[in-house]
Parts: sequence; C-alpha cells; structure tokens
Amino acid sequence: MPLTPEQQDEIAAERGGIRPTRRATVPALEEILYEPLPVLDHGFVRVVDYMGDDGAIVQAARVSYGRGTRRVSEDRSLINYLMRHRHTTPFEMCEIKYHVKLPIFVARQWIRHRTANVNEYSARYSILDNKFYVPSPEHLAAQATTNRQGRGKILEGATAQRVLDLLREDADRAYAGYAELLNEDTSGAAIDPNRPGLARELARLNLTLGFYTQWYWKTDLHNLMHFLSLRADPHAQYEIRAYAEIMLDTLKRWVPMTYAAFLEYRMNAATISAAGLAVIRRLLAGENVDQAASNLSPREWRELMTLLGRAA
Ligand SMILES: Cc1cc2nc3c(=O)[nH]c(=O)nc-3n(C[C@H](O)[C@H](O)[C@H](O)COP(=O)(O)OP(=O)(O)OC[C@H]3O[C@@H](n4cnc5c(N)ncnc54)[C@H](O)[C@@H]3O)c2cc1C
Repeated sequence: MPLTPEQQDEIAAERGGIRPTRRATVPALEEILYEPLPVLDHGFVRVVDYMGDDGAIVQAARVSYGRGTRRVSEDRSLINYLMRHRHTTPFEMCEIKYHVKLPIFVARQWIRHRTANVNEYSARYSILDNKFYVPSPEHLAAQATTNRQGRGKILEGATAQRVLDLLREDADRAYAGYAELLNEDTSGAAIDPNRPGLARELARLNLTLGFYTQWYWKTDLHNLMHFLSLRADPHAQYEIRAYAEIMLDTLKRWVPMTYAAFLEYRMNAATISAAGLAVIRRLLAGENVDQAASNLSPREWRELMTLLGRAA
C-alpha cells in the first residue's frame, strides 16, 4: 500500500493538527484518525471523520440534556437492550466517514449497500493508478464444488503460477493500453506530442475489475453494523471481508460498548426459524428427532445441527 511522499505529507499534516472542540471525541479512534490501515495488496481503509460515541447513543435513547450521571454499567445495559430489541434509531445518531482504496470488483459488491453516502475518485477527471489486485497464494483457490458462490481447494505449483502470470500479464497489458490511449504520463505530459490522447472517460474502458479505485464512504452506525454483519460474515467473499474485518477494529475503538453488543447479539448470534425452535424444544425434552420428522429441509436441518454443534 505505498503512498506517494505528497500523500504521506498530507496525512502527517492532518494528524499533526489538534483542534479544540466541545464535541465528544474518542481517544482510541483519535489514535488512528487519518491513518491508512492496509488491506489486500494495495488497498487501505482510513477513518477520516466521525461523530458521536457510545454516550451519544445513550443520550439519544434517553433524549437527555447532557451526559448525565448514570453508571457505565447502566449505559452498557441500555446499549445491550437496544441491540437485543432492534431499537435501531439511537445508533443512527453516530456517523463515520472512511476513505477506502479497493479493487473495482470489491467496490461493485460494496456499492450495493445503499444506505451510505459515497463519493468515488473520478476516472473521467483523473488518471487511475497502475495498481491491480493479485490474490496472495493462500487465497488462490479453485471453484468450490459444493457451493457455486465460493472457493474450494487452494491452487498449487504450476497451476497457481500460471494463474498469477495470467493475472499480472493481462493487467500489465491493460494498463499499457490505457497509458497509450491517454497518451499521457502520470505528470500529465504527452507521451507523443504529435497525437491527441483519448478522453480519460473513454481510455479507462479496457481496465479490468482488479484495478483499484478509491472513495469516501460515510454512513451511520446502524447501517455500518448492517454492512459489517453481511460483509464480515464467512459467507462474504474474502476480499470484501478483509475490508470489513479492519472496519470491525475501527468500530471496537470508536464505540466499544456497542461493538461488544454487536458481537453478542448480531455477529455471534443466530436467527432460528419457528420449525427450528420446535426441534430445539423437542431435543431439550429428550426426544430423538431426525430431519424427516423435523419439518425442516435437509439444508435447514444441516444448518441447525451445525449451529447446535451436533452431527447432521
Ligand atoms: C454473501 C452475499 C451474497 C450476495 N450475492 C448477491 C448476488 O448474487 N447478486 C446480487 O445482486 N446481490 C448479491 N448480494 C447483495 C445483497 O443482495 C444486497 O444487495 C447487499 O448485501 C446490500 O444489502 P441491503 O440492501 O440490506 O443494504 P442497504 O442497501 O444498505 O440497505 C439497508 C436496508 O435498508 C432497506 N432499504 C434500502 N434501500 C431500500 C429500497 N430501495 N427499498 C426497500 N428497502 C430498502 C432494506 O431494509 C435494507 O436491508 C449479496 C450479498 C451478500 C452479503
């Protein structure tokens, strides 16, 4: 994730400035404010702004005039209660803004989350970096045989090498074509002064989904947790999960009580259907239930047994 010296200077200048404020700030998040947290081979996530803290959620829920004098344990209980009962609006009182550098195929999944404000780097206006994603060897896997939307065995040896060569060669060729179409180097100077370059908005057409783009992404805490519950989940593709996991760490720094409640009642919790609940009740009563007598499909049965840590 190498940044240019100018980008590093800008970040250092932001981090060097201290602004007095009456608003709530969170020291653990301030510690990493503006800092790029590396993700994948060239990506990053950085928190560039935030509003609110755990106290702001409690204040909103109580519609109070100030921070009050209640004990930490009371605030924690209230946050747990809100999370448990899906009383979500107090969580919408906090906001966070990220700057993210991510491959275009990850951005396509991410942009499906409509409840955020997004401003993307303009490839009509600016030239995209020569940065494309190449999976590290442990993530280079074959198509899964049991799940059409997933990966199977890790590729090895000559097969893995061929895949890596193809990914790199195709991306290098695509970027060389992009530069030739633009007829412009990264400083903006013409490569061949005797011919016009193609418009930037058209020259980008041959770049592949592995190239990196960037955006500012702002959302509220409720919708951030919705995003994380879907994208930090093992069912999400590894590459977007890598971003979500880093963002989970920022959530922990920002609103530690909410983070703990989120893990307890959302991330590490489970939703069980009415038929599933009936099976659990019968099992607890000592009945010997099997799939055929459960009113569950074989797949639902397998999922429930996995949840309960029992052989299907
Ligand atoms: C593992 C996984 C696999 C996926 N596979 C596919 C796939 O194969 N193809 C595909 O197209 N997508 C796929 N998606 C994307 C998925 O269908 C959702 O579009 C994405 O996760 C965003 O979720 P969301 O709509 O809940 O989020 P947001 O857009 O942030 O919306 C949050 C909530 O706001 C409400 N909301 C927002 N906008 C509207 C609206 N216009 N109307 C009504 N309610 C609204 C809904 O309650 C929604 O849950 C996949 C997602 C995951 C996590």
